[in-house]
Amino acid sequence: MLFRSRQSIEEDLRRALKRREFTLHYQPKINLKTGAITGAEALLRWTHPTRGSVPPLKFIPVAEDSGLILPIGAWVMREACTQARAWLDAGLPLTTMAVNVSAVQFRNENFLEDLFATLGETGLDPEFLELEVTESVLMEQRELAASILKTLRAKGVQVSVDDFGTGYSSLSYLQQFPLDALKIDQSFIRRITTNPNGTTLVSAIIRMGQSLNLRVVAEGVETAADLAFLKAQQCDEAQGYYFSRPVPPGQFAKLLEVCVS
Ligand code: C2E
Ligand code: MG
Ligand code: MG
Repeated sequence: MLFRSRQSIEEDLRRALKRREFTLHYQPKINLKTGAITGAEALLRWTHPTRGSVPPLKFIPVAEDSGLILPIGAWVMREACTQARAWLDAGLPLTTMAVNVSAVQFRNENFLEDLFATLGETGLDPEFLELEVTESVLMEQRELAASILKTLRAKGVQVSVDDFGTGYSSLSYLQQFPLDALKIDQSFIRRITTNPNGTTLVSAIIRMGQSLNLRVVAEGVETAADLAFLKAQQCDEAQGYYFSRPVPPGQFAKLLEVCVS
């Protein structure tokens, strides 16, 4: 069933947290040299009581415009940190838990304070947390972004640039920011096999990331052909349906268990 309007999404979103309609699914990131799982990306899922599952691309923009992304984002952070800590306590080989952070959250004046409080309360060592932000988050308020990134780096939290290549980044700023990884947007990965010139941009982004000393992660890897190309180009990591869809926590733990045995 379709939502009648943005307004009806907003009304229902307001109740969703209280009614516990949100869950997180986790998708693995794979090290292309070793094949090991290097981390999980937490992806928000909303199961509406009558409308069923609502895709993030439909409700996250509404949550951002209405400010509801702040309490929702705080819930995501706490849930992801709690889960990461539980997996680590169970001896599972998780290296990082990545959480998507939208511009509204990043620019909120309590962002860092709340984040460190959550890390403290959940007992997750900051080195296990990675934040994913888009290029525009970094480029639109550069001074603020630089100071937030500096604090995160000092505390050991990693930061990656999500959907890289879809926005516009000033490369000289990118170079100055303390960043850890670039995630090549899936639209470029899609072109590896569908467009005769599709490989050029992907190779260029990989080279650029390497020269900036950043880990390069390919998003949306769906085929063996994508994977072969990325390996040949020495892309560091990949994520996509080829390896696994985002899955509920129990299933993700099983993926990690396979890595141990
Ligand atoms: P994203 O952070 O770039 O996440 C990757 C998206 O690509 C996810 O969609 C994932 O399910 C999908 N994906 C992964 N592998 C493949 C593949 O091989 N093929 C295809 N076609 N898709 C793949 P999802 O979960 O629908 O999330 C969409 C976007 O919503 C995310 O893009 C992110 O920007 C946002 N989002 C999701 N969860 C959160 C959250 O907790 N907080 C915030 N602020 N944004 C979130
Ligand atoms: Mg992401
Ligand atoms: Mg992305």
